[in-house]
Amino acid sequence: MAAEPFPPWLTAFTGLTAWPQDNPPYIPLDYVDLATVPNHIAKRELGICDGVERTACSFDCHLCIAFDDIRTCNKISQTFDDGPSPSTPKLLEMLPSKTTFFVQGVNVVRFPEIFREQYRQGHLLASHTWSHPNLASLSNEEIVAQLQWTNWAMNATAGIIPRYFRPPYGAIDNRVRAIVRMLGMQSVLWDRDTFDWKVNAGIKTSPEVVEEVQDWKLQGGGWGLILEHDTTIKTVNVGLDVAKALGPNQLTVAECVGQTQWYQDPARLGNEPRRGHRAASYQRS
Ligand SMILES: [Zn+2]
Repeated sequence: MAAEPFPPWLTAFTGLTAWPQDNPPYIPLDYVDLATVPNHIAKRELGICDGVERTACSFDCHLCIAFDDIRTCNKISQTFDDGPSPSTPKLLEMLPSKTTFFVQGVNVVRFPEIFREQYRQGHLLASHTWSHPNLASLSNEEIVAQLQWTNWAMNATAGIIPRYFRPPYGAIDNRVRAIVRMLGMQSVLWDRDTFDWKVNAGIKTSPEVVEEVQDWKLQGGGWGLILEHDTTIKTVNVGLDVAKALGPNQLTVAECVGQTQWYQDPARLGNEPRRGHRAASYQRS
């Protein structure tokens, strides 16, 4: 499988000639004004919640939800994070419903054919950062870079710019949200966690996950935003077992909130070049 070539329009804009490694460089954008980001919320490591003010509205520390966060669905919505991976095609082949994939930029450019197939099949593609850091531990510039490079990867590979974003580890607060919004995205969390990664770790079995999901459904749960992963064949198989247990006619995250425009309009991107535009006609200001 060949990686996605680095596009000339991105070279013209960034000066780079290859996709970045895990720590992408910050490139200023005329529609991102970091002076407007709340400056009272400190950087912090995962799980370190001592001293985190309630006004920071941290989801990972306090399960705080902002007015524009999406946290649930009025029907069933399975979602798959961290891909695409070589295990994703099995999901594409066998899932009975359209679903939502929160992808990592590094994996989009590593597996561009799989990503394009996800798009061709009509699934909703959304952002899960470039390389899966805890965003609450990063500087504002590093957060911008994690989001922007993922948008560029999705744009270069399939011509789309995501409208929905899920923070790795659910690590989000009002500082991170402010940057997510400037990049034109809405944050998506979850209210059902299958803990499918425990199946990878060998500390849980797929039938155990399915039993929990069925119990939840029996208790009146005909709705919910479900967190899963398409990183390995084990978690993909769990996802298919869960899909079988919950039945078809699921919604994507965009459908959960009644949004018919699943992606951003490229016209809002200001000075940023985009796929299909000739790099030669572009002047960086
Ligand atoms: Zn993740």
